[in-house]
Amino acid sequence: MSQKINGVKGMNDLLPGEIEVWQFVESTARTLFGRFGYGEVRTPMVEDTALFVRSVGEETDIVGKEMYTFEDKGGRSLSLRPEGTAPAARAYIEHSVSNQEPVSRWFYMGPMFRYERMKTGRYRQFYQIGAEAYGAREPAQDAELMDVVVQFLEALGLTDVTLNINSLGDDNCRPAYHAKLVEYLNAHREELCADCQQRLERNPLRVLDCKNEKCQAVAAAGPNVLEFLCEPCRAHFTDLQRKLGVLGIKYVVNHRLVRGLDYYTRTVFEFIASHPALGTASTVGGGGRYDKMMKGLGGPDVPAVGFAMGLDRLVLLLKEGGKTFTQRPDLFIAVADEGSQDAGLALASRLRREGLKVDFDTRGGSLKSQMKRADKSGARFTLVLGEQERQSGQAKLKPMAGGEPIPVALDSVAATVRAQPEAPAAAPAS
Ligand code: AMP
Repeated sequence: MSQKINGVKGMNDLLPGEIEVWQFVESTARTLFGRFGYGEVRTPMVEDTALFVRSVGEETDIVGKEMYTFEDKGGRSLSLRPEGTAPAARAYIEHSVSNQEPVSRWFYMGPMFRYERMKTGRYRQFYQIGAEAYGAREPAQDAELMDVVVQFLEALGLTDVTLNINSLGDDNCRPAYHAKLVEYLNAHREELCADCQQRLERNPLRVLDCKNEKCQAVAAAGPNVLEFLCEPCRAHFTDLQRKLGVLGIKYVVNHRLVRGLDYYTRTVFEFIASHPALGTASTVGGGGRYDKMMKGLGGPDVPAVGFAMGLDRLVLLLKEGGKTFTQRPDLFIAVADEGSQDAGLALASRLRREGLKVDFDTRGGSLKSQMKRADKSGARFTLVLGEQERQSGQAKLKPMAGGEPIPVALDSVAATVRAQPEAPAAAPAS
């Protein structure tokens, strides 16, 4: 017997029955981002490795440890994209978009790849929905982008999520904070976990978002980035908070929020869910301003702000909500005898063309077994087609949730089904 081949660890299959909740999240995003004027961008899943090294940063966990990097047959170093901001920026620069319009708003969705330690809500192929606004430096743009996320979460029905905001300052004021932080962390070196002792050398800001309790205690008592902001950065952060107030968006200021990527300036933010289903993977999304990235990638001096949400985690939360997303069939067509099989197949085809969702068992079989399948399908109605129905052109719609059969002419089934009010208590599709 041939040996079975399994999927790659940390990379999941999404099958029918489960995919519907993903499609719900994706279609909600499309509708909502569209309302805010964000257009979809699709970039390749593979990019030149240098793109991530120069934007996300060599010292980050993502680039330093987690990237799927390989050499192609031409000897180029390529990487599966670990995030979506840098590829979108690369496309923005490559297509000279800033010459065509002063402000651009883009969104993307798709798989990202990171070689991470796996647990609930953390995978090696995972999915992000993200948005980027290019060309506006103002705090109003940061606030508008957070509003996109707030309205997106509202539209999904996910309300138990807290917005955390912070400012990391800019090239002008961050060095002083950085120096103070390093000095402080060095003085508490022994109290930090082994990972953080290494981070201290390579990327000290990352110590602030370590999940280890001891490291958190050290970080909490450390220097506060907000006290180091220069006047323009402070004004930006104050105005952002005022604008969030104007929009009625609730938030908490969290001076330990740093995010793991190098490219941020000024505003950073995260949306954190409190549901236990996510365990420690409770951040459903985050983002920030990255005014220097375009120039750093050889592009124009265009400011930008963006976010990415983890689709896998949104789906986990929605599944906890217990709502079903599968669309049940309107009608199951069962045939009473073998001679009616072709007529059943044709009727199903016609009704689908007329817009009904119809289930029909192509295997035929006894009427009893077909009725069992009709039950299992979760269809609203079943129509039994036999010799008599074919002769008379008349049949009955049996409501699967119970109730009196409804007489129907075979040439007006679609209209009759549509005219029936949705019964609230039908059997759920499983
Ligand atoms: P990041 O690009 O690291 O800021 O991540 C943005 C969002 O993507 C996070 O808040 C998560 O919701 C999601 N995310 C990041 N890494 C993973 C992963 N390995 N598995 C699942 N979701 C992830």
